[in-house]
Amino acid sequence: MKSKYADLKLNQDLNKIKEAAMYIKEGKIVLFPTETVYGIGANALDEKAVNKIFEAKGRASDNPLIVHIASIDMLNNLVKEIGKIEEKLINNFWPGPLTIIFNRKECVPNNVTAGLETVGIRMPSNKIAKKLIEFANLPIAAPSANISGKPSGTKIEDIIDELDGKVDYILDNGMVDIGVESTVVRVIENKVHILRPGKITVEDIERLGLEVVIEKQIMEECNPNERVMSPGMKYRHYAPNTKCILVYSEDENKMIEEINKQIENIGNVLVLGKTSHLDKYNTNNKLDMGESLEDISKNIFTLLRKVDSYNIKLVVIEGVKKEGLGLAIMNRLIRACEHNYIEI
Ligand code: AMP
Ligand code: MG
Repeated sequence: MKSKYADLKLNQDLNKIKEAAMYIKEGKIVLFPTETVYGIGANALDEKAVNKIFEAKGRASDNPLIVHIASIDMLNNLVKEIGKIEEKLINNFWPGPLTIIFNRKECVPNNVTAGLETVGIRMPSNKIAKKLIEFANLPIAAPSANISGKPSGTKIEDIIDELDGKVDYILDNGMVDIGVESTVVRVIENKVHILRPGKITVEDIERLGLEVVIEKQIMEECNPNERVMSPGMKYRHYAPNTKCILVYSEDENKMIEEINKQIENIGNVLVLGKTSHLDKYNTNNKLDMGESLEDISKNIFTLLRKVDSYNIKLVVIEGVKKEGLGLAIMNRLIRACEHNYIEI
């Protein structure tokens, strides 16, 4: 059976959002927009409803979900305490693309947190997400909208084939604003540990006078048996079936030269590059990533979903500097390339 569908691109019909909120109350699952990527949401306090998300995505049960809230009252109901540093992060970045890990209360079901004593929480700024949570009057547990392992959904056209019929309701708000998932942080001994980079950057957090630690797993490969602070980091994610290599140099010309070398050696290559670099590549197979970090962050998941249709031997992807939003982009790209990375 097809999922119920509401097009909110031109008109944000509140009745449709209310209807979807009723679905959440009834224990059903709803695909909805946030400012980062689309999510598949369920009542975060209903273990059975949350199980439907894991089934729809084929998600490993040891990979916890982020709980989305619309008020500080909701936060107080879910967590044991809010530390001073967490409070500072909330005051500066909520509502917005920042997930904070807290010690959870008993009311949070085990499957939401994958058995952990902590829970990841975020207050989205997207108006539809906010209304959905408010109308349901419930916290909504929601991972990214995609079959596990695939790139996260940033527009409905990309994910309709894999998720239609698997979720109960689809709220379509067109293209998301940011395009990569939220920054995930955990405060340990007064330091803000970045478990997953996103639009709220290391620099944004440091600007508040806070000390930041970037977890090494962000750019390195982790062993599947290793204990990691952020369970999502262990899994194969974002990688197309076609082999991909990420190439980066601080010197733009060197990077372009290296990519042209790959084209010459392999022949059948698709390049994903910045708009201003595309005419420098000696191949007809090119995809435009955009020019700014904001463009690239918006476009990468859609582009990664396209590459398999090219029927080529190798995809070469231009890297960016691991600064600001660039760290989040490189974290996603290095995983899409399964750590095939050349830095010159
Ligand atoms: P997704 O919902 O697909 O964006 O993935 C959410 C990610 O947030 C998970 O894969 C984890 O890496 C991270 N996360 C969620 N809850 C926790 C938690 N309690 N502790 C550490 N990381 C978490
Ligand atoms: Mg995900």
